[in-house]
Amino acid sequence: MIEVVQQVEAFAIENDAPKIDTLVLQIGELSSVVPEYLKKIYPMAIEHTLLEATKLEIEIIPGNGKCKVCKQVFNLLKTNGICPQCAGTDIELLSGKEFFIKEIICFDADDKDT
Ligand SMILES: [Zn+2]
Repeated sequence: MIEVVQQVEAFAIENDAPKIDTLVLQIGELSSVVPEYLKKIYPMAIEHTLLEATKLEIEIIPGNGKCKVCKQVFNLLKTNGICPQCAGTDIELLSGKEFFIKEIICFDADDKDT
């Protein structure tokens, strides 16, 4: 998390320190990162940084795989990695291990509050 904060800080400095409102992260549900934990430590991680008082948003990317036998695409977590169609276990991972900074929303950007 600290690393992410440093990355965003570097971005802010490069871009003449825009006022950051919200940091949006994309996290795959198969990654080792626990979103709830991130949200918990975020206020600590941003203390005394440029990100102080910013908000954190997390988007979860489903852990999807494609069966190499029958080409079925399915959610790996729900089926424990076993193809629901043919019970195959030779699966190609499509998504779910991501950990990205998706977006850095600044105050000047379009008003996204709904
Ligand atoms: Zn299959």
